[in-house]
Parts: sequence; structure tokens; C-alpha cells
Amino acid sequence: MRRPFIAGNWKMHKTTVEALELADGLKAALADVESMDLAVCPPASALGVVSDVLAGSNIMVGAQNMHWENSGAYTGEISPVMVRGLATCVIIGHSERREYFGETDATVNKKLKAALAHDLVPIVCIGESLEQNEAGETVSFVGGQIRGAFEGIPAVDAQRVVLAYEPIWAIGTGRTAMPEDADRTIREAIRDVLRDLYDNPTAEAIRVQYGGSVKPDNMADFIVMPEIDGALVGGASLKVEDFAGIVKNAAAALQK
Ligand code: PEP
Repeated sequence: MRRPFIAGNWKMHKTTVEALELADGLKAALADVESMDLAVCPPASALGVVSDVLAGSNIMVGAQNMHWENSGAYTGEISPVMVRGLATCVIIGHSERREYFGETDATVNKKLKAALAHDLVPIVCIGESLEQNEAGETVSFVGGQIRGAFEGIPAVDAQRVVLAYEPIWAIGTGRTAMPEDADRTIREAIRDVLRDLYDNPTAEAIRVQYGGSVKPDNMADFIVMPEIDGALVGGASLKVEDFAGIVKNAAAALQK
């Protein structure tokens, strides 16, 4: 049984003061949630204050990105060692990083190995573009991203990875995938490929979140799908009532 996991990606939003306020509000609003893992991923500038506010709470803190080297002449980057001091999770290979900052399956693979080596919980993002979706290339493209991300990673480590299946056309657009379509893609492009790379227990152990315009009123439709183990939430993670609504609606749907 995979434990559900809902994470918020704050992207390049929230000053330190605003981040502190949001973290404080979420801590209070979600204090009684026990049935799933929760995380928020503030910008690097707010990792310190948010990790202070959420210390000892049921909400983990994640970084949105990191370099794979421990230190070095990489202006503007933060390293796994630095992240480890402030966070327990890290988002790797978000489609915005792939599109605007040149991330590739090869850099995702290096970052994933670094995250695992430093005992961080990696949330690896994969997903197809609208063109690929319409051309019927989703399964081969996402399957290729999975093979690239997991290259050289043994099964024992692979099980610690969290995947976020995020169709690019659904991110920030208000347009979601049909839950059944997302579920089928996760089965065919992710679990079947993981089964081929590793074995059935490994493929079944890895948690897969759905991401793409998740809101309080559509969360339940996704979380009840057999292959979907939670969500990576962008826009709707920026307000206490929205993110708390997503978490509560997911918890209620799973209890039915
Ligand atoms: C994301 O950035 O990972 C995301 C899913 O964004 P949104 O929820 O705004 O579509």
C-alpha cells in the first residue's frame, strides 16, 4: 500500500515574510492530517524560515531544484549538502526547468543520484507536451524520461523516488488531464517501464503524483484512481484555504 503524498510547489512566489505566513497557516490548518505525507517547496530564499516554522510538524519542506555537486564554482546554484540542511525533499526536472533552464534527462539523472546519496526524497517530474500528446507519443516520451532518470540507479534506491506525472499542457492552464487518462498513462508509461527496468515490487512501490491544475474541487477525482498516489500542486498551493482544501478533500475521498 503506497502512502499518499501531496506536495505544493510555490515556484518563484512568496517573499520570506509571505512564505513564513503561508507556512504558519498551513501548519495550523493541516495539523490533524495523519493519513498522508505532506510537503511544501518554497523558493530557495525562503527554505530557512519555512523549515524553522515547520520543524516538528507533519509538513515536510522541499527545495525546487539543486545542483548535483556538493560544492563548486556554480554561481547561483545550491548543492545537495545545502538543501539537506534545510529540507527533506527536492523537486527534480520540473518541466519549467527543462523548458527554461536546459534541464535534460541526463541532468535529471545526475540530480536524482545526488538526492538519493544525500537521503533527500526526490520528486522527479515527467510529462509530455500538448503536441506529443496529440501525436499519440505520450507513452513513448514519458517512458523515455523514466528510463533516462533511473539510469544506473539500483532497485533499492529507486523505491525511494517519488514521481510526478505532469502533462505540460495541464500545468498552470486550468486544463486538467482526465483522471482515467492520467491513470492509464501512469500504468503504461511509468509502472510498466519501471517493471521492465526493475521488477514488480519496485514498480508497485514507487509513488506517483499527478500534477497539472489540481484544485480543491478536482483532487478527489484524481486521488481515487488506482495508480495516482497524490499530487504536486502549483498555483493552488499558494493559499492556505486552497492547499488545505486539496489535502482535506483527498483524505475524505480516500476514506470512502
Ligand atoms: C506544477 O507546477 O507542478 C503544477 C502542477 O502547477 P499547477 O498546479 O499550477 O498547474
